[in-house]
Amino acid sequence: MAPHPGAGPAAGSAGDLAGAPVTTLRGVGPRVAERLARLGVRSVQDLLLHLPLRYEDRTRVTPIGALAPGETAVVEGEVELASARPGRRAALVCLLGDGTGRLTLRFFHFGSGLQAQLARGTRLRAYGEVRPGPAGLEMVHPEHRVLPGAEPVPLDTALTPVYPSTEGLTQSLLRRLAAAALAALEAAPGLELLPGDLLRRTGLPPMAQALRLLHRPEPQAPLDALLSGQHPARQRLAFEELLAYLLSLRALRARSDRLPAPALRPGGGLARRLRDELPFRLTAAQERVVAEVERDLARSRPMQRMLQGDVGSGKTVVAALAAALAVEAGFQVAVMAPTELLAEQHLRTLRRWFVPLGVEVAWLSGRQAGKEREECLRRLAAHEARVVVGTHALFQGGVRFAALGLVVVDEQHRFGVHQRLALWEKGLRLGRYPHQLIMTATPIPRTLAMTAYADLDLSVLDELPPGRQPIETVAMPEARRGEVVARIRQACAAGRQAYWVCTLIEESEVLEAEAAEATAARLRASLPGIAVGLVHGRMRPGDRDAVMAAFQAGDVRLLVATTVVEVGVDVPRASLMVIENAERLGLAQLHQLRGRVGRGSERSTCVLLYRGPLSETARRRLSVIRRHTDGFAIAEEDLRLRGPGEVLGTRQTGLLQFRVADPLRDRGLLEQVSAAAHDLARDPERVAALLRRWGGDRVDYGHV
Ligand code: ADP
Ligand code: MG
Repeated sequence: MAPHPGAGPAAGSAGDLAGAPVTTLRGVGPRVAERLARLGVRSVQDLLLHLPLRYEDRTRVTPIGALAPGETAVVEGEVELASARPGRRAALVCLLGDGTGRLTLRFFHFGSGLQAQLARGTRLRAYGEVRPGPAGLEMVHPEHRVLPGAEPVPLDTALTPVYPSTEGLTQSLLRRLAAAALAALEAAPGLELLPGDLLRRTGLPPMAQALRLLHRPEPQAPLDALLSGQHPARQRLAFEELLAYLLSLRALRARSDRLPAPALRPGGGLARRLRDELPFRLTAAQERVVAEVERDLARSRPMQRMLQGDVGSGKTVVAALAAALAVEAGFQVAVMAPTELLAEQHLRTLRRWFVPLGVEVAWLSGRQAGKEREECLRRLAAHEARVVVGTHALFQGGVRFAALGLVVVDEQHRFGVHQRLALWEKGLRLGRYPHQLIMTATPIPRTLAMTAYADLDLSVLDELPPGRQPIETVAMPEARRGEVVARIRQACAAGRQAYWVCTLIEESEVLEAEAAEATAARLRASLPGIAVGLVHGRMRPGDRDAVMAAFQAGDVRLLVATTVVEVGVDVPRASLMVIENAERLGLAQLHQLRGRVGRGSERSTCVLLYRGPLSETARRRLSVIRRHTDGFAIAEEDLRLRGPGEVLGTRQTGLLQFRVADPLRDRGLLEQVSAAAHDLARDPERVAALLRRWGGDRVDYGHV
């Protein structure tokens, strides 16, 4: 169990040990190392961060007479009888007695060795789960050992950890390796990466103590707290991990702050003319955010700002004003949306605003035909096009900007963090980085946002434009579909417009499109005289754009759509929405979809059609969405129902995958973590060691 000499304290600080591969431990060859790697365990230090899933108590012997079914226990006794029963399920049955009672031990797989071992009169210690059997209580395949002589054999003094494992790694090997890693690191200077005053201030235990407790808890340790993560030892590790995460994002930001960006000094009055042209006045929140953006743009380091605003809070006009500022300063602007549909809408909106002011808006999409695309690329490279709207096609190879000054990314949760960074790389070629404005309608609690997007400055539109009416939301079973159709007939006859959203559980655009087509056909049949339009992801972009334009113009009264309308679509006159299969959708998606109505001054309604029977979660979701319209409140509920990974939409990017921490459970730590990150910034060596320990140095920010 002693560590390999190379892994011992002699090797130097824990910083070095962090990098020491597991193969430096005795008994770890390439095969075991490969299996450990499957658990994310590569270094000796990783072994320590690989925490037990649960614990077994082998520290005391339970008298057989006191055993209860369902309990897992250690017993000791004498073999009174052992016999092999032949038959289809051959079994070796052994009767163990200790004077307080008798227990059957049953083995289905056994050889002559075991049979010989369990001879009558042998003293045995067994550990296993107690179950009711045909003749009293029994243990099936207990772990067991023969006790030599009459002398007492010491019991374990600590609880036995059970680690997450994978094929080919036994618990006993994992336990041995964890103990070896503990012995190697405990004594090493540098295991403790948090300064003493921080530990005192937070009341968190030192690392060595926390690790010892987690890997070898005393028999009296509070298991509930240990397993739920509330125990100070777990909190200590969570604190460190969150700290490392925050530091890695701040380091990323610090690097980007040193990069040159064009300081945009507007002076052409374009933004002012755009304001004058708007049919409304900006809300106070919009004014505040525009001012924040303007200040950032004037600096010679790249703006990295995230704009959070609930559905319908008016983010687009903020983006347009930012674009105007960049254009009048002589630079180009790229506006990127996550879907073609949304990009097309931004194109229409920005053209409506910019063309009268003499600024052309170009279009770049992945599906564009050769010639048109060529022409767009040429105009971008020649600085003829000053504003360009598109999808991720904007940052594919071959797109060159003459003077890209600002990138606006709409509905960021649809883009992975890595895409965000890739887009940014565009500026590299020019030696200058564009300013970035990232807009998201996925509200997340502020402390969580500060952690997840610690590399960004945060602006919040916490106010809706005036005159909005609350949306009435009702849930109705599928059986009442007829009533819903009648309601649509009425609404459309009264001059209103409506959405009918078809959703499917399968992630198949084809099936979804087919379902939408079928629904549209049925609705057309039951709603004669009402212009019904259809949009889905598989239509030719031109056709889809024509339908959306007709809906916007009011010529189409009822729009049947797939979830392509989920984000961003803005048709203020539409005031009724029906969502089919609402029970299958998550809260964030329901909130986004519903946000397509309630954008005008008319009172809006959202009907959630569901198919029963409802699961408990579905029932809770529908109830939350009916009771709340505020995105932040919904996000809180969503967090409670689903956990933060999904809420943040970062599951795919892998950026928010923690080993120990859970930003939701541990959010009580976040303020202190944030303060600690601030203080530690002055201690680069410690920061580097923290990043190495928690893998923050592996996050691929390579290009920055
Ligand atoms: P989102 O934040 O969801 O992207 P949009 O930018 O699409 O919201 O704006 C929603 C609607 O509100 C649009 O029709 C927009 O023109 C309108 N709007 C934006 N700002 C204001 C305002 N200050 N006063 C009135 N209407 C506004
Ligand atoms: Mg929007």
